[in-house]
Amino acid sequence: MTAEEPQKVKAGEKVGPGTYVCIDCGRELKVTEAEKDLVKCPSCACENYQCFPMTHIRPDIKTPEDAVHPPKRK
Ligand SMILES: [Zn+2]
Repeated sequence: MTAEEPQKVKAGEKVGPGTYVCIDCGRELKVTEAEKDLVKCPSCACENYQCFPMTHIRPDIKTPEDAVHPPKRK
């Protein structure tokens, strides 16, 4: 199963909050807004990213607001 594998996304796609890692140079791009157009990698202009959505990292984060202001862990 590939459930644990990061999703792949391309520049220009609408993405949600999370961390996007350039597959070419490994540069991390953090996105904190919902429905944002993913830009090309600022370092190498690569268009392909691995996607690590915030919702996968923190199961208690469900909305873009939560991602910007994460709820305290209990
Ligand atoms: Zn890059």
